Amino acid sequence: MAVIAVIFDFDDTLMPDSTSALLNAHGVDARDVWTRQVPELIKRGYDPPLAYLKLLLDNAGADRPLGDLTKAALRRFGSTLDDKFFPGIPEIFDDLRAVPTAGEVRDVSVEFYVISGGLREIILGSTVVQSYFNGVYGSELGEDPHTRVVRDVMRCITFTEKTRYLFEINKGIDSKDSRTQPHLVNEDVVQEERRVPFDRMVYVGDGLTDIPCFSLLQSMGGTAFGVFDPTHESSAKRAFQEFLRPKRVLGVHAPRYRDTDELGAFLRQAVATVTSRIDLERKMAKQLGR
Ligand SMILES: [Mg+2]
Repeated sequence: MAVIAVIFDFDDTLMPDSTSALLNAHGVDARDVWTRQVPELIKRGYDPPLAYLKLLLDNAGADRPLGDLTKAALRRFGSTLDDKFFPGIPEIFDDLRAVPTAGEVRDVSVEFYVISGGLREIILGSTVVQSYFNGVYGSELGEDPHTRVVRDVMRCITFTEKTRYLFEINKGIDSKDSRTQPHLVNEDVVQEERRVPFDRMVYVGDGLTDIPCFSLLQSMGGTAFGVFDPTHESSAKRAFQEFLRPKRVLGVHAPRYRDTDELGAFLRQAVATVTSRIDLERKMAKQLGR
């Protein structure tokens, strides 16, 4: 079975920023967090994702805005966001899965992954994610074992860190195994035996943290789409990221995923192109008696 992996960033790629939604829902001004508090911590030397995770923890606990925040509560919050996905989701997932069959190419499956600097629990709370996604990689807070209230950082996914998870998908490492065996990704696997070659990956992301993934995939023959939503241009996190964004041009599209939308059509085409390439490679191998 050949596998095509379609990998998405989450916040501002599949839906508007979920951390801002969490903060605003608890009366914390997300704009102030992204445009003043996070930059202040960065000036003091904090890595950006650790800065926002620290601010979340600072706001959690009795008598603080986020209250006794638990991982279960984050998951429940995620379940309330299912109607926030951008247009064309989840329909595009069924469409992409059906591409190989429509092209009469057998034994090709299309899988979906999220690699996000946002909170894994919120993402996993979504029924859309539960129904369609094969793996979710995100930042994680750790709980106090007695009170269950979040109090430390278990996992922090920053920009270069995102490529680590592309390698895990490439080598076919199960996301559940890699949680407790982080060095599995370093095991030497010859290219021909890797489960998902990079040229069978399609990546969609919007932010600064996605640039190393864009670069890696572009150099390895994969396909990468940049997302930019003009209607969310003024969102606080966007303003924060624009401030830091290096001057580089990416092909960017609005995050609209219907078959009549530019990005929705390109993604369907990208999966069809990879499917045809797999078909051609098989036919050539057969002809050469390999
Ligand atoms: Mg994003």
